[in-house]
Amino acid sequence: MDRNTRIAILGGGPAGLSAAMYLEKKGYENYTVFEKNNRVGGKCYSPKYKDGRAYEMGAIMGCPTYFAVQEVMDFTGYGVDGPALVRQYKNKDGKVIDPFSTKNVLNLPHLLRMKNHVKKLCKLLQTKYVGYDINGHRGISQGRYDGYAATKEHQKVSGENPNLKDLMLPFDEFCRINGVEGVKDLWIGPYTSFGYGYFDEIPAAYVLKYLDFDTMMDFMYLRLWTWKDGTQSIWDHLNDKLKHPALLNQEVTKVERHDGKVYITAGNEAPKEFDKLIVTTPLPYFAEYADASAAEKELFSKIDYERYDSMAVEMKPENIPDTSYYIFENMQPERLGHLMVYYKRWKTDDKNQPITTYTLRNHKGQKVLDYEGTKKQVLEDLKTMSNPAENVILECENYYFPHIFTEDYQAGWYEKVEGMQGENNTFYAGEIMSFGDMEEVAEYSRDLVERFFAD
Ligand SMILES: Cc1cc2nc3c(=O)[nH]c(=O)nc-3n(C[C@H](O)[C@H](O)[C@H](O)COP(=O)(O)OP(=O)(O)OC[C@H]3O[C@@H](n4cnc5c(N)ncnc54)[C@H](O)[C@@H]3O)c2cc1C
Repeated sequence: MDRNTRIAILGGGPAGLSAAMYLEKKGYENYTVFEKNNRVGGKCYSPKYKDGRAYEMGAIMGCPTYFAVQEVMDFTGYGVDGPALVRQYKNKDGKVIDPFSTKNVLNLPHLLRMKNHVKKLCKLLQTKYVGYDINGHRGISQGRYDGYAATKEHQKVSGENPNLKDLMLPFDEFCRINGVEGVKDLWIGPYTSFGYGYFDEIPAAYVLKYLDFDTMMDFMYLRLWTWKDGTQSIWDHLNDKLKHPALLNQEVTKVERHDGKVYITAGNEAPKEFDKLIVTTPLPYFAEYADASAAEKELFSKIDYERYDSMAVEMKPENIPDTSYYIFENMQPERLGHLMVYYKRWKTDDKNQPITTYTLRNHKGQKVLDYEGTKKQVLEDLKTMSNPAENVILECENYYFPHIFTEDYQAGWYEKVEGMQGENNTFYAGEIMSFGDMEEVAEYSRDLVERFFAD
């Protein structure tokens, strides 16, 4: 492709900015990133507290398998420098527990089963499910894999593997047919509590592409990355380094594609002409401002997303918890709308900091819970935990982890959307194309540039 191709990128979050970086690395410098907010980073949102320190309202962490995020940091000269992540557990009544303790003999059979199932899953992933961890979902519905290996070298790999079709089943069912139900007790921590939905509804592909075996072990052994100035700072640094930083306060309100060109209207400006378009903004809303085709409308209407709320609260110093807490009992659909995790970012003896809470409000087949009612419930739950809040200083109602369900996955949703890449000079990237975390979206942007903007 001509290196002077004019490329419009919608969205200045991790997907859009990493697409810009990978394009730039390939010699495409005629790109423009449109961002509706007055900052970049999207759901990597790290506002400053009154003492000047950053806290997290969106993404918090990465780990050593975040190879594309590492590449972004290498590009900018930035590194991992945040506080260590520590955690403990409570039951729903606020009692501190240790679900992984071997001291209680009654717990031992359960732990042994979990350990055996983890070992078994590890083996299955290396044998029966070869190709499961390739970024994106291309080929799965046809029993193929095609993409880049989840390794530092990200070598290109492809092959046939009919077993991969099992990944389209809800994770519960995937575990049942493989006799590894015990792994759910481990995977649930970094999965459901991080707002990615419940195992009875979410296809295993999402669970295992995000929490591939190595990444899961990093979470288990707390080999985790955080950033002193927050995850937003990764993308602030990248934006500063790009030849063309994102245009801020430029909400795209119209996309027209005709005569082989793309016309973008943003902010109060006149439409700008481009040759290609990369969309990283939420696809369910694309048709509201774009001349979406019938296929785009139909496919994007199938996307669901999680209502995952984060809230920062202040507490009296005596009520600040000693550490972050996970409440496994509240990660079941019956406890929808309850507090699942609360996060203490800075040192354990530091009594001056906001605490962030996390809650889910939806589950397939259930009515979405009302926002205000859920917020009240979370504040009640903090009291039950003996960490009552004084006041709420910030709250985010997040459009989170867009995904499709098993039926649409099996009907070839990803094959259809991947088959549309490049049609009408339009490409799709961002969370729905891979998974809702920083690494997967950055990897997908790399993959997209490799596939369609190659030498
Ligand atoms: C509470 C929470 C916790 C999380 N924890 C983690 C974590 O620990 N680790 C991790 O890796 N990930 C985590 N994530 C997920 C991660 O933040 C996202 O997956 C990632 O930010 C997705 O990047 P994106 O660019 O695809 O989308 P986004 O980050 O959503 O960015 C999209 C951008 O598009 C812009 N936009 C939308 N519409 C328009 C328009 N019409 N015109 C112009 N611009 C527009 C938005 O303003 C936004 O900046 C978390 C997210 C949340 C909310």
